[in-house]
Amino acid sequence: MTYVQEVMAMVKQMNPAEPEFHQAVKEVLDSIAPVVEKHEKEYREACLLERLLEPERSVSFRVPWVDDHGKLHVNRGFRVQFNSALGPYKGGLRFHPSVNRSSMNFLAFEQTFKNALTGQPIGGGKGGSNFDPKGKSDREVMAFCQSFMTELFKYIGPNEDVPAGDIGVGGREIGFLYGQYKRLTNQFEGTLTGKGLSYGGSLVRTEATGYGLVYIAEEMLQAHGRTIDGATVVVSGSGNVATYAVEKAEQLGAKVVTVSDSNGYVYDPNGIDVAVVKEIKEVRRARISEYVKLVPGSTYRDGKKVWEVKCDVALPCAIQNELSLDDAMDLVANGCIAVAEGANMPTTREATDYLQSKGILFMPGKASNAGGVAVSALEMSQNSMRVHRSFESVDQELREIMKDIFHQVSGAAEDYDQAGNYVTGANIAGFRKVVKGMREQGWV
Ligand code: NDP
Repeated sequence: MTYVQEVMAMVKQMNPAEPEFHQAVKEVLDSIAPVVEKHEKEYREACLLERLLEPERSVSFRVPWVDDHGKLHVNRGFRVQFNSALGPYKGGLRFHPSVNRSSMNFLAFEQTFKNALTGQPIGGGKGGSNFDPKGKSDREVMAFCQSFMTELFKYIGPNEDVPAGDIGVGGREIGFLYGQYKRLTNQFEGTLTGKGLSYGGSLVRTEATGYGLVYIAEEMLQAHGRTIDGATVVVSGSGNVATYAVEKAEQLGAKVVTVSDSNGYVYDPNGIDVAVVKEIKEVRRARISEYVKLVPGSTYRDGKKVWEVKCDVALPCAIQNELSLDDAMDLVANGCIAVAEGANMPTTREATDYLQSKGILFMPGKASNAGGVAVSALEMSQNSMRVHRSFESVDQELREIMKDIFHQVSGAAEDYDQAGNYVTGANIAGFRKVVKGMREQGWV
């Protein structure tokens, strides 16, 4: 067995019943195999892959909270601090019923390479809980956030670990979490990002992941003689990433015809009205099916996925493994030319392989959704310096960062004779940076 095969077997044996983690590790190991082969003796002696694949620290904890009827509930909280070779652990918190050890390990592992690609001094981590904020009152969400932070605060800090939002954790939740952190530590510091603008948040952080996704999609299209201007785009999801991907794609001249949630999708042949999506999701916190009541000419398909809609560009922005092989076949049959992942690992491995085999331009999430964490790092530096940058300057830097990520990913693929394979390119470019930091810091 090669070194790469040995460590893959080790990961499965040490982390049984963690399919998402195995999937993420396999994709990275397959991509970096040629790099590892070149340095096999040195990497083996330094147990480099064994160290890369074992989180530096991982905690899980009990989160008791009381609902509006006085009933006590208990959820499980997690924080996985995967790798700090390049900086303090950084990565979002996810509140969703699907959260478990496997999804946390997969997300924290991916985050390590994504953060490396941003060029910012941040390591990789992730956390969350199987708590579902959907349908809960503000008071219940606050009670949960306060209990969650009462344990989490022991493990985080501005130079140690800086969480942000993710699925189910937006501005409201970050506010409640930050309030409790401050109360427990007596410190007003940049320990969370995605904060409100009134207490240390950065302009553009809310928009950053969606905007960054469209900026890198545009770079990729332009590198192949195409542009997003005039393209028909399908977007899945209607949360933070999806909403601002729709907004930026439309600003750049695309027509976005779908948004969705876990119940079904909306099709609007005239182009999604992003103000209506914001009103439904950010103000009313309602289901996306409400859209058709507000926008004449739009239709809702219950229980269906957006990938059946004809498009030039697809932006999956909801959740892992939401785009299957069958969905990929639909996209290709309908003439789609490019897929850029807004969510983390939304495309199954079979679907990714199929899309690439058909010559579809494919940008993986660890490159294409890195804009969020990149602007989080800019929020950290603003907090440290106690300054507040303008929207235009942060947006401009975000654009430059996404451009730079595209060139790193594209260049790394070319270095290994895989021009245009951005999955391989992203994995190799991220791996090279993390490994350089690890080698220089010794056997830790
Ligand atoms: P939100 O909670 O704001 O939105 C998630 C959206 O996905 C909701 O519309 C949700 O619908 C939908 N969704 C969830 N499960 C499914 C499903 N099974 N099928 C279809 N739709 C579903 O999360 P974000 O927008 O923040 O995150 C979306 C993705 O982007 C995640 O993979 C996240 O890890 C990734 N990401 C987010 C970043 C950020 O800055 N927020 C940064 C980088 C990556 P419903 O209401 O029905 O659950």
